[in-house]
Amino acid sequence: MVPELVGKLTALGFEVAVEPGAGVEALASDEDYVRAGAVISHEALDGADLVVSVQPLDPLVMRRLPAGTATLSFLPPAQSLDLVADLRDCGVTSFAMELVPRISRAQSMDALSSQALVAGYRCAVVAAGLLRRFFPLNMTAAGTVPPAEIVVLGAGVAGLQAIATCKRLGAVVKAYDVRAAAAEEIRSMGAQSIDLELETLEGSGGYAREMTEDRAARQRELLTPYIANADALITTAAVPGRQAPMLVTAEMVEQMRPGSVVVDLAAESGGNVEGSVAGKVVRIGNAQVWGGANVPSQMPGPSSKLYAQNIVNLVTLMTRDGAFAPDFEDEIVAGSCVTREGHVWHEPTRTLLEGVAQ
Ligand code: NAD
Repeated sequence: MVPELVGKLTALGFEVAVEPGAGVEALASDEDYVRAGAVISHEALDGADLVVSVQPLDPLVMRRLPAGTATLSFLPPAQSLDLVADLRDCGVTSFAMELVPRISRAQSMDALSSQALVAGYRCAVVAAGLLRRFFPLNMTAAGTVPPAEIVVLGAGVAGLQAIATCKRLGAVVKAYDVRAAAAEEIRSMGAQSIDLELETLEGSGGYAREMTEDRAARQRELLTPYIANADALITTAAVPGRQAPMLVTAEMVEQMRPGSVVVDLAAESGGNVEGSVAGKVVRIGNAQVWGGANVPSQMPGPSSKLYAQNIVNLVTLMTRDGAFAPDFEDEIVAGSCVTREGHVWHEPTRTLLEGVAQ
């Protein structure tokens, strides 16, 4: 939560308690929260009807919550099965931002998109910072310096924002995505859409489908010359619930020119680039390879503000007459719920945890 949005929650009828120092990393002081109408307390969780956070609560903290308390945070259910079991056993009602359905009505509550937007921008700026040459064309009395050429792989929310930012900085941008709809979106940003003449891979909910190993190998082969010619490569590809697809081998990076840069946003979830390391810059051949680690947190102001706005919009949807009262008939409420009344409500997670769909 950011101080400027505390007033939206108090206007709904809530009292807002914030743990001391909770906003420090997002550049918000305890005094800012107090001025906005919140209480700063080490016991902020005691007696709370709803606990909102970015990451899920620590299990030890969570187990102290009385049954019936609700939590709202990022909570990747398939990767958090022990925690989901604890939430179930403690009778906590938990909601995961990852599960907010991607429908028009829920766009203002879609934290995956808001954080991907920040991450995509950051990737472009990191590439511009690491690359020791201009992004734009420069025509000067001393001669002409051509623009940098950037290749972006994965043109979802983060990739499109990376493309838009590189274009604003004046680079020549080429991009590729497996979804058919992405080609038009890439072109609408003024970039060139790379057409590999491979079948497109649409999954459900606007997401991509996983590649077969044959398709992946062919895609890598066809992308090789584009990557070898790029000054910077930015990769943002993901498939929900899976490890990030490996799009670029170390051998492909080795063909890049001296001074090249690779920015792998997916480094934390397995990596789009072989050899990238989350949170580090490593050298592969001639290229510096930057691996993203909690990238939205590297721009804490906008990421916190957008996340807090997503949270406020979701809490507003779940509030009736000044009280937290989620309506489980609502598609957004039901879709984002993980556990409720001692049960795992999210069916795919229940199947993973308990073995059978009930
Ligand atoms: P994401 O983070 O899951 O994936 C990022 C991108 O990687 C996607 O565009 C995907 O197609 C691409 N990708 C996956 N495998 C690839 C591969 N092998 N090679 C190249 N690219 C690959 O997805 P996202 O960015 O969160 O969302 C994807 C799309 O979903 C958006 O562009 C949008 O069309 C849609 N969306 C809809 C809503 C809504 O309706 N409310 C909200 C957000 C996003």
